[in-house]
Amino acid sequence: MSLIFDLHSHSNISDGLLSPAELVEHAAMHNVDVLALTDHDDTGGLEVAASEAKRLGLQFINGVEISVTWKKRTLHIVGLKIDPQHPPLKFGLESIRAGRHTRAAGMAAGLEKVGIKGSLEGAYQYATEGIIGRIHFARFLVDSGISKDTKSVFKKYLVKGKPGYFEHQWASLEDAVNWIVGSGGVAVLAHPGRYDLGRINMLLLLNEFRALGGAAIEVVTGSHTGAQYVEYAKYAQLFGLKSSQGSDYHGKGLSFMEMGRLPMLPSNCVPVWHDWPEALL
Ligand code: AMP
Ligand code: MN
Ligand code: MN
Ligand code: MN
Repeated sequence: MSLIFDLHSHSNISDGLLSPAELVEHAAMHNVDVLALTDHDDTGGLEVAASEAKRLGLQFINGVEISVTWKKRTLHIVGLKIDPQHPPLKFGLESIRAGRHTRAAGMAAGLEKVGIKGSLEGAYQYATEGIIGRIHFARFLVDSGISKDTKSVFKKYLVKGKPGYFEHQWASLEDAVNWIVGSGGVAVLAHPGRYDLGRINMLLLLNEFRALGGAAIEVVTGSHTGAQYVEYAKYAQLFGLKSSQGSDYHGKGLSFMEMGRLPMLPSNCVPVWHDWPEALL
C-alpha cells in the first residue's frame, strides 16, 4: 500500500482555521501518512505540529509557503524540509511579515474609500496567531454582513482592481529559493496552474526557477483541475523537475480540497519524495 503524502497545508499561524496541533489531528483522521505544514511566510507552527505528529505516529515535514513577486505577479514557493532557524530564511520571512502589516493598512484604506470602516482592526481580530492576510479581511467582511461568503468577498473586494486590493512587493524569486535551499530544503513551485501565465511565461518561469535551484512543481494540488494534473506533469518532465502534491487545506469552508483525498501523481512524474527516508517506512 502506498503512503498518502500531503505536502501543502495551512494552520491558523497563517490563514487556516485550525491550530497547528488540530491540523495534525485532522490529517491523522484523514489517513495522511506524511504531512507538511506550509503556512504563508511563517514557520511559527512547526514545532507544535511536529510534536503532535510524533505523538500520533504521523511523519512530519517542516514547510513554508513564501510569497514572491515575479514579473509583477504574485507567486507562491513552497519550501519543504526547511530549517526554520537558518538565519537568512528566518530574517527573510520576518521582513515579509513586516510588509504584510503595511499592506494590510493599505487594504483597509482602500476599503474605507468605499465606505467600509474598521476593517483593519476587524481583520486583525482573526489574525491573532501569526500573519495577517487577505483571508482575515475576507472573514471580517463576511461576518459583518458586507458579503455573503469568502468567494464573493474576494471577487468584489480583494482581487486586483478591487477596492481592498493593495499592490505589494513580496520577496524576489531568487531570494525565496536561496533561503529555502540554503536552509537545506527543497524549493517547490506551488499550484502553477493558478497564475494564468500563458505558455511562454510558464516556460520562462520554470527555466528561471530551475536555474536558481528550484527542484519541483506541484502537479496534484487542490487548486488544479484533472486536465492541469496532466499538463503540469508534462512541464515537470520537460524540465526534469520533480513533482509534488498537497491539498492546500485551509479548513472547512476555506479549503480547496479535503485532506487525504488527492489522486495519485501521474505515472510519468518523479515524486519529490522519491529519495526521502519517509517514503521507505
Ligand atoms: P494573501 O497571501 O494575503 O494575498 O492571501 C492569499 C490567500 O488567500 C491564498 O493563500 C488563499 O488562501 C486565499 N485566497 C486567494 N484567492 C481566494 C479566493 N478567490 N477565494 C478564497 N480564498 C482565496
Ligand atoms: Mn492561504
Ligand atoms: Mn498558495
Ligand atoms: Mn497554500
